[in-house]
Amino acid sequence: MSDALDKTIARAEGFLKRFREKPVAHLIDGKQDSGSGETFETHSPIDNTIIAKVARGGAAEIDKAAKAAMKAFRTGWSQTSGEQRRKVLHKIADAIEARADEIALVECIDTGQPIRYMSKAALRGAENFRFYADRAPAAQDGLSLPTDTHLNYTIRQPIGPVGVITPWNTPFMLSTWKIAPALAAGCAVVHKPAEWSPLTAVLLSEICLEAGLPAGVLNTVHGFGEDAGKTLTEHPDIKAIGFVGESATGSAIMAQGARSLKRVHFELGGKNPVVVFADADLDRALDAVLFMIYSLNGERCTSSSRALVEASIYDAFSKRAAERMKKIKVGHPLDPATEIGPLIHPRHVDKVLSYVKAAEQEGATIIGGGRAGSQGNFVAPTLYLGARNTMKIAQEEIFGPVLTMIPFADEQEALAIANDVRYGLAAYLWTKDVGRAHRFAQAVEAGMVWVNSENVRHLPTPFGGMKSSGIGRDGGDYSFDFYMETKNIAIALDNHKIPKIGT
Ligand code: NAD
Repeated sequence: MSDALDKTIARAEGFLKRFREKPVAHLIDGKQDSGSGETFETHSPIDNTIIAKVARGGAAEIDKAAKAAMKAFRTGWSQTSGEQRRKVLHKIADAIEARADEIALVECIDTGQPIRYMSKAALRGAENFRFYADRAPAAQDGLSLPTDTHLNYTIRQPIGPVGVITPWNTPFMLSTWKIAPALAAGCAVVHKPAEWSPLTAVLLSEICLEAGLPAGVLNTVHGFGEDAGKTLTEHPDIKAIGFVGESATGSAIMAQGARSLKRVHFELGGKNPVVVFADADLDRALDAVLFMIYSLNGERCTSSSRALVEASIYDAFSKRAAERMKKIKVGHPLDPATEIGPLIHPRHVDKVLSYVKAAEQEGATIIGGGRAGSQGNFVAPTLYLGARNTMKIAQEEIFGPVLTMIPFADEQEALAIANDVRYGLAAYLWTKDVGRAHRFAQAVEAGMVWVNSENVRHLPTPFGGMKSSGIGRDGGDYSFDFYMETKNIAIALDNHKIPKIGT
């Protein structure tokens, strides 16, 4: 281990000390709250040792948090001016930037994500707050829709307290992505972070409170999906659920929220195609294909997990991909040279590795893969070649550093393969033929399409998926449509004749 890595680990340990020393509490109504006293453990994916004990919330803690959120919503936050909300959200962004190093290091240890990506995740979280801070003053704006007899105008009003439920893969960035627009809209929030990586949610709630967000506007309740998560989705005071996670969990949440007619916004799984035509700039395409599946440990909803490659270039392209893949550095998440860190949890490692057996049985060629290192959740990058789209490795979300490469004969077949999957989150397309780029982009069943590019997020654009990949869109004004109610107000002019009855 290098001196530099030793020093970074020591810095991370400094930030983790507080979590190691005292069980992590919920934050309810602006106060630390240990709830029932029951706890669960969060482990480091590097060696599976305990990092912290975390309060395990259930129905009682969710009820307390939902009531605190309702009180904060009714008596304050929903009444504040957009300008005031703008100021508070900018202060939160300032505080995130000031603690970016701490957030990044804690996130790396709690999730196993490499520092080369996570250092930017905290800053992207701050950007999310700044983006929605600047939109807060106009969040209520609506339309003027006059007729000859009425002036109609619409306004938007915050829907009420909302629940935000987030996954473990890049928890800080994803939480800010959901929470920032909710707060900008004037909603109060109860956040239930993922049980496998709960620590940066603690930092976020602390930062928000210190930056001047009133008590009760953001409440964080830790715990498992089946109790804390479930009760949040059922609570009558919670008007909407913003959820990021697996498609099966999305279905469960929809059923759980049915009784209270919960509005839902789902960002779910993906099995995203990257389609490489022979006429593409193949060097750039190769860089993008490798980056979009092997960065962030492949634990990324928009990963390009299915590469569809035109048959005439398939052998040469897959050979180059395999050579580059073998050079990818698997290692300690805090080492800046590391490109793949340990996966989140031993159970997730088992899931990812179970596909090796499936690939063998179905007759794919397996390059790389298997466990890496003698401890922790390290998995070597994997490439499945000669795959067909009917195979499990082509249909199911593996959510690890695993790429399935499938040949195709022509554009028509590429499109059929791309769409023959239950998911529809993102698609990537590589070609120099402009006509084909437009045709394909419009026909492919995906909420987001990048042509000749990896995933580059632009905050005003809609983010979300079709089919089993989600319901609704985040980003820009789309988030406000979810967190707000649109109201129409019609004012009659005196030329309007009221119908008379009983005269
Ligand atoms: P998950 O669905 O297992 O868990 C997500 C969250 O839901 C956790 O906080 C969990 O505790 C909670 N939960 C579980 N069961 C629940 C229930 N019955 N009621 C309420 N809450 C419940 O997902 P995960 O394994 O943490 O995350 C990985 C998944 O997230 C992948 O499928 C990935 O594609 C998806 N994801 C999607 C996006 C996107 O933008 N589309 C982004 C990141 C991750």
